[in-house]
Amino acid sequence: MSENTLPKTLHQAVTYFADEELCVKFIAALRWGNKMPKCQQCGAERASYLSTRRIFKCLECGKQVSVKVGTIFEDSPIPLNKWLAGFWLIANAKNGISSWELHRALGITQKSAWFMGHRIRLALQNGSIEKMGGEGETIEGDETYIGAKARNMHWDKRRARFQGRTGGFGKQAVFGMLDRKSRKVKVRAIPASWKDDVREIIKDSALPGSTIFSDEHGAYHTLAKDGFVHDFVRHAETYVNGAVHTNGIENFWSLLKSCLYGTHVSIEPFHTFRYLDEEAFRFNERFGNDQDHFMLALTGAFGNGSPTKTSLERSKHQAQRPDQFKAPMAREA
Ligand SMILES: [Zn+2]
Repeated sequence: MSENTLPKTLHQAVTYFADEELCVKFIAALRWGNKMPKCQQCGAERASYLSTRRIFKCLECGKQVSVKVGTIFEDSPIPLNKWLAGFWLIANAKNGISSWELHRALGITQKSAWFMGHRIRLALQNGSIEKMGGEGETIEGDETYIGAKARNMHWDKRRARFQGRTGGFGKQAVFGMLDRKSRKVKVRAIPASWKDDVREIIKDSALPGSTIFSDEHGAYHTLAKDGFVHDFVRHAETYVNGAVHTNGIENFWSLLKSCLYGTHVSIEPFHTFRYLDEEAFRFNERFGNDQDHFMLALTGAFGNGSPTKTSLERSKHQAQRPDQFKAPMAREA
């Protein structure tokens, strides 16, 4: 496998990865280079490949290992060629791809497609732990709300949900930051009362001394105390006050919303954070080509050990706060 023989288009990718054996060797090469996998049982690095069963067997102790173990493919009966095509589709879809589209494109059940989509999104998180900004650099910070649109709801549901309520009720609050120099974003789902969370996210994500532009919300008034230079715009009066504006992150919000409302139709609030990672990946890597996006997304598949069904469940519960809205929405995307 050399760089220049790798697929460059969706059509080439589907042809290239049609052979399951090639997929196994492709993943093995990405994970272990040209060496055989180190045995989990005895530590030996001498293994043989059993092509009939597409597994590796330790030549010392006989322990068998699949290339899927310790990756997001673990425990999945979906063949690797479909997984890799799924990666290509999600990493390169301009406006995201719903599980219904994935189901039709790959010929897998809608339930499998939904599961595959969430695992691939897990790979896209590829934890940008690098901090933003720095002395003299500017970051835009802003919050927004994502959720079902009232006009798409049945009238009694709508009345029950919105009567006498204002603002973000029934929606998922989201906080985002855009580094003006790198033009990259970080986004996180936040609870309905988000003041303290946002303060912590900024301290975690921005280098001290960074200049932070936000709106006039009181939550941002502690930024100067936290070692940042802070300035804000009053959205009620004007959207742009010279260089002090949050248009960059607001542009990202409109891309995010057109993806979420246009492609996925309706999303369970506790799954919102997965789609945030997907859209942040797409935005941050927008200058690469399709092959770059695919390879970058795929490296996240082997990242943090083995996210099994249980860890997916766990992360779901972590994102779900008691103060968040929990009523079921139309259907899962
Ligand atoms: Zn062994």
